[in-house]
Amino acid sequence: MSKFLHSKFNSLTPYDTSEELESMNGYVKLNTNESPFGPSDKAITYTREAAKTLNFYPDPECRKLADKLSDLLNVKPSEIVFGNGSDEILNFLFMAFCQNGAVFPNITYSFYKILAKFHGVDYVTMPLRDFRIIPDDFSNMNGRTIFIANPNAPTGLALTLDELKQIITSNPDSLVVIDEAYVDFGAESAKDFIHEFDNVIVVRTFSKSRSMAGARLGWAMTNEDLAKDLRNIKNTITPYNINALTQAAALATLENEEETQKNINLICRVREGTKNRLREMGFEVLDSSTNFLFVRHEETSGEKVFEALKRCRIMIRHFDSPPKISDYNRITIGTAEQMQVMLEVLRRVVKK
Ligand code: PMP
Repeated sequence: MSKFLHSKFNSLTPYDTSEELESMNGYVKLNTNESPFGPSDKAITYTREAAKTLNFYPDPECRKLADKLSDLLNVKPSEIVFGNGSDEILNFLFMAFCQNGAVFPNITYSFYKILAKFHGVDYVTMPLRDFRIIPDDFSNMNGRTIFIANPNAPTGLALTLDELKQIITSNPDSLVVIDEAYVDFGAESAKDFIHEFDNVIVVRTFSKSRSMAGARLGWAMTNEDLAKDLRNIKNTITPYNINALTQAAALATLENEEETQKNINLICRVREGTKNRLREMGFEVLDSSTNFLFVRHEETSGEKVFEALKRCRIMIRHFDSPPKISDYNRITIGTAEQMQVMLEVLRRVVKK
């Protein structure tokens, strides 16, 4: 720590990027839930065109994107706010919408805790039961902002819309943030709740089903009042948060929804096949509504499975920090060929 750093940042707990850096060195990347499929040809063409106007600042409101999303999702452009990845939206939410504290499951997206700590938000975690979020456990949160990843990560399990509604209606004084990073792979979106309730924000991303993790783009959908607040926060800190290349690539992607749907269908099919093969080998595999599987072997430790794959230059995600999920690994669904190679390695490791 340098002598110039403000003392309030003495004990930061940043997101650990070391494994991500290592996995970029020629590994089969099954560790961060990216799409195995590259961006569409159209996205590449639009990006190349947009590069010619890089001398200008990008549209701070991403109006073309907002119009297109508005058509596709039946929300108004004024109800949409874009972020540099959904992580940036989450950052704004922890920064500015958690005055009464926050609550989220004890096993969920690790960034919630990191952001809560960073912004000095008083947070509590709610234990999962059998890896499930129990809506009753989240009733009456006394104004704390509630963060629910639906489907949840790393479990892959989803709540139904009725269960989400139960959380929303039992907390009229809380903002309920529904993080739908993985929703396209098998859960129902709560986006229409933004018109039914005044306390809902739905957060989505282009990083998973839309093959654009490298472009960094996410968005929030909420009622116009909340969207205005969120936009004010965004425009105070980073008015030009979405660069022109990303806006162009995203527009092309939204103009090509069939390709996105085709990729989603393929990933879901490969996921189900991989799940069945893993179960035959003695793995306990949670049912997944996402593009990853959360798995544990009856006899072989999570660490051993992780290390064996790593030696074969396949990177999956191992959890070694509490709460106790170190027996488990999270495996991103790659191409059918990548899954085949992974399964062959695992077959040798668990000898079945
Ligand atoms: N929410 C969840 C549940 C995630 O798993 C992730 C990424 N791993 C994000 C949000 C952030 O995604 P991005 O910033 O790439 O949009």
